[in-house]
Amino acid sequence: MSETDAATMLQKPIDPKLFSWPSSKPRLLGSRCNNCGTTSFPSQTSCPRCCSEDVASCELGTRGKLWSYTIQGFLPKSPPYAGEETAETFRPYGVGYVEVPDQVRVVSRLKASRAEELEIGMDMELVFEPFRVDDDGAEIISYAFCPVA
Ligand SMILES: [Zn+2]
Repeated sequence: MSETDAATMLQKPIDPKLFSWPSSKPRLLGSRCNNCGTTSFPSQTSCPRCCSEDVASCELGTRGKLWSYTIQGFLPKSPPYAGEETAETFRPYGVGYVEVPDQVRVVSRLKASRAEELEIGMDMELVFEPFRVDDDGAEIISYAFCPVA
């Protein structure tokens, strides 16, 4: 077993339907309607625009523009939130919509914790990072968007 295999075995995607993982070039996974061309994220089994069930999985672009955002200033309810923070260790973080090519708005955690760091329309880039460690010791990987420097 190579070192790469050992490393990837200890990481799991937070949801295997959301993005390709493990991968040397992980991408978010959406669905595209073969009838009207609408792209959706997360992927759907039917088109939200025309209701066609003729949809195919597709990879989304890794760059986009910040469409809207807010700062999550308190610990979200758990469940559904699966983070390990407590009220004492919680730190605010940005959350927003990033519009990637094909006019898909992806809801995402943002790599920014203060409103001053964010501006609607700014360029954003997809990143992947450990979100928490599960009971088996595996790193759970999630995605986020980071302002492009
Ligand atoms: Zn459609």
